Amino acid sequence: MGAGPSGLTLANVLAAYGVPFRIVDAKPGPVGQSRAAIVHVRTLELLDRLGLGDRARRRGLPITHAELYENGRRAAEVPLAGRDGGPVALGQDDTERLLVEGLEERGHAVEWNTTLTTFGGARWVVGADGASSRVRRALGIGFAGRTYEQTGLLADVHVDAGLPPGRLRLNLTRGGFVGMLPLGQDRYRLFGALPPDMAEPSPDGAVSHDPYAAVSLERLQRWFETFFAVRTRLNSADWTALFRVHSRMAEQFRAGDTFLVGDAAHIHSPAGGQGMNLGIGDAFNLGWKLAMVARGEAGERLLDSYEAERMPVARKVLNGADRGFALEATGHPVAAWLRAHVASRLIGPLSHLPPVREAVARMFSQTWISYRGSPAVGGSAHGALRPGDRAPAGMAPADLHYHLVVSPGTHVDAPFETHAHPAAGRLAYLVRPDGHLAYIGSPEAVPTDMDRAG
Ligand SMILES: Cc1cc2nc3c(=O)[nH]c(=O)nc-3n(C[C@H](O)[C@H](O)[C@H](O)COP(=O)(O)OP(=O)(O)OC[C@H]3O[C@@H](n4cnc5c(N)ncnc54)[C@H](O)[C@@H]3O)c2cc1C
Repeated sequence: MGAGPSGLTLANVLAAYGVPFRIVDAKPGPVGQSRAAIVHVRTLELLDRLGLGDRARRRGLPITHAELYENGRRAAEVPLAGRDGGPVALGQDDTERLLVEGLEERGHAVEWNTTLTTFGGARWVVGADGASSRVRRALGIGFAGRTYEQTGLLADVHVDAGLPPGRLRLNLTRGGFVGMLPLGQDRYRLFGALPPDMAEPSPDGAVSHDPYAAVSLERLQRWFETFFAVRTRLNSADWTALFRVHSRMAEQFRAGDTFLVGDAAHIHSPAGGQGMNLGIGDAFNLGWKLAMVARGEAGERLLDSYEAERMPVARKVLNGADRGFALEATGHPVAAWLRAHVASRLIGPLSHLPPVREAVARMFSQTWISYRGSPAVGGSAHGALRPGDRAPAGMAPADLHYHLVVSPGTHVDAPFETHAHPAAGRLAYLVRPDGHLAYIGSPEAVPTDMDRAG
């Protein structure tokens, strides 16, 4: 239910497995705004499994570096593209259209202009119906968390800034971090915190407490000139979104045969552009499990692992985004002074430290996601790899099957260190349809019931 990025991903996974479903959405078609503009590495890898990854890479613009500035002075540069590739700038409207295409190519269509009022009759219902989820409310599931006082602003603008493509420019100023992402030609995504005096309701009718209200070009111009340290004026804006940051998570992601994915399950600061990517990850995680159970290839117990695996991931993103936004946006004068005088002196040296550089790159990759300790994975650690980790790239083909990789001497040229297993002399890795390791251990003990690899 709901054909945003989360619902569309789930539908694509079910379609790829040949499992019947219905997908409805109240809107007349895909979203008309670019909203979430960054597709992370991990999301591209999941799209690869649906045969859509390369199309997303081709239609988007690669983002290769984050450049850090302090009040307009260049302090450092961090590479974002690594061994596993890099993120791409692609508007949510394009991402949704791509997913609709994928669905149509598999012979399915979204039922647009269809509002769900009650649900029942289906074996499973998935609420992919966004932050004010009707499904979540109908189930009486709480959405605990907080709403911050601070206000942020997103805008897609036209400006003759002439910045090099592929570089995300972050500027630390007395007002906090502001960012600028090239979207091609003279289009840029602007994002960042808005100081309280600029966040007040204005004659253009924008009310700062409304989530995602529009602002006037005049106010946008003032924000741009004050904080971005780019010596030119904006020409025009395609859309603007003034927002209050919420940080909320559903108390459960599952109630019986009903599941919540994406914004219906969690919302947080857009800092780092995690929201859409997190929703696509939820949908993929649930999708292959529902398909396996529907096809009788796994027991119902496999479905328990959806909440067990995705809730800790959402919690981590929420905590990280909260911390990021606090640094970015808090209006407290002491914090503002620290940000301007201490953080700006530290940012240069800090950003040269490998762990700091890695942390920035990982934020735009979501490749850190692991399901260690999940009830659906088992076996034992081997080297740095643990059951539940993302399998190293190239260990198994990127499709929707399970793959058993036996090392050494398999057809796969595994790019990881291999040691003889103490018990069996050889080591087996069972790679799940989402590219995570279901099992590491002796080939003789590989689980055959997929709902409990342990
Ligand atoms: C203006 C704006 C700007 C944003 N900018 C960013 C950004 O820069 N970076 C970022 O990471 N994230 C951003 N986000 C958040 C991002 O868009 C969401 O995280 C993402 O869309 C979540 O996808 P979803 O599929 O879970 O939910 P949604 O995209 O909200 O999709 C839910 C769908 O369910 C449908 N629906 C709801 N109720 C019903 C019903 N009763 N019956 C039928 N259909 C229903 C809706 O029409 C909608 O299509 C932004 C959001 C907005 C609104």
